[in-house]
Amino acid sequence: MSHTPSRQDFDTYMTPNYAPQQVVPVRGEGSRLWDQEGREYIDLAGGIAVNALGHCHPALVGALKEQGEKLWHLSNIYTNEPALALARKLVDSTFAEKVYLCSSGGEANEAALKLARRYAFDHFGKQKDKIISFRQSFHGRTLFTVTVGGQPKYSEGFGPVPGAIQHAEYNDLESVRALIDDDTCAVMVEPMQGEGGIIPATQAFLEGLRALCDEHQALLIFDEVQTGVGRSGKLYAYQHFGVTPDILTTAKSLGGGFPMAAMLTTDNIGASLGFGTHGSTYGGNALGSAVALAALEVIDTPEVLDGVQARHQLFRKHLEAINEKYGVFKEIRGMGLLMGAQMSDAFEGRAKDILPLAIEEGLMALIAGPNVLRLAPSLVIPEADIEEAMARLERAIKRLVAHS
Ligand code: PLP
Repeated sequence: MSHTPSRQDFDTYMTPNYAPQQVVPVRGEGSRLWDQEGREYIDLAGGIAVNALGHCHPALVGALKEQGEKLWHLSNIYTNEPALALARKLVDSTFAEKVYLCSSGGEANEAALKLARRYAFDHFGKQKDKIISFRQSFHGRTLFTVTVGGQPKYSEGFGPVPGAIQHAEYNDLESVRALIDDDTCAVMVEPMQGEGGIIPATQAFLEGLRALCDEHQALLIFDEVQTGVGRSGKLYAYQHFGVTPDILTTAKSLGGGFPMAAMLTTDNIGASLGFGTHGSTYGGNALGSAVALAALEVIDTPEVLDGVQARHQLFRKHLEAINEKYGVFKEIRGMGLLMGAQMSDAFEGRAKDILPLAIEEGLMALIAGPNVLRLAPSLVIPEADIEEAMARLERAIKRLVAHS
């Protein structure tokens, strides 16, 4: 008899760098998931802000099947039609003139940071190598990106780490002014910190970063891995602020669940990524590009983007109503369908305790650090699923309060 994989197999066969929930989902449709026992869940985690169109959206399944029967992969020795169409779509929809395709957010950021160093090297000399990022930021798990990220626990024990990286305080322009100089080649920032606790940047902060970068001829890199592709209610969050970066990275929702990522930039800057300077075997894989193009075509429409704003309001209304009853949240914040509810003082550090209770109620959610409950649902989650999800969340929170 063949072996049915179980959660126990994770502990037996896989490295212990994750601690997955006890249930093993086996099927998804829209915003619903079913586990091995046939229990149903509403998914507000969205694969950590990835499943932008929910599970198995017909447009994505259609693109996957169609491309899957034509051509999957060529490597960068040949180009392919889906990758070319995807790059063109990204250029048409953003500030960008050039696109580098890859497969994960960390890889897109690695490319962005390497490009910034290389551009400075080409135009100003090798002394211009300093990179500034922000405490609590998250940019990926490669050694470069964990070092640029502002959470030392992720680079601890992996040294020696890349040098010339400094951290300023998020939303504090003076802390950047104190560090930046003509040897700074780039400032990397999330327009809204995701893993760091769902903290939106202020308008003045992003405008100020743009001005400081211009003053010191440093490149402004927006990491939109989590905020991009409609999640904020615009295709990219920078479009809310009217502050245009020099480089933008995008992943997660881009493939709607297929590992796809991109780094966007201008003609002038992109030229520093000359032939042979950088690359990836899978970057711009035909299958992934076809799915990402299909996802973008669905998401980059007024219908979906306006719907994100409307759904934000509905979630907010429910979260506020729950809070009125139970007083568990200090602040409800976020943009579009990347929302965070910071725990009140009485429940400090207990956001993670909500997750298993929510699972028992048939709800999947996320946290962003120990103190923030994070929601990153499908951008097209039906209203009825939101109502039901919030009823389940309320039951979970009622039990959290009762256990306290
Ligand atoms: N940048 C940001 C803002 C992220 O939120 C993440 C992942 O959470 C990453 C980069 C890393 O992306 P990936 O896990 O696809 O490498």
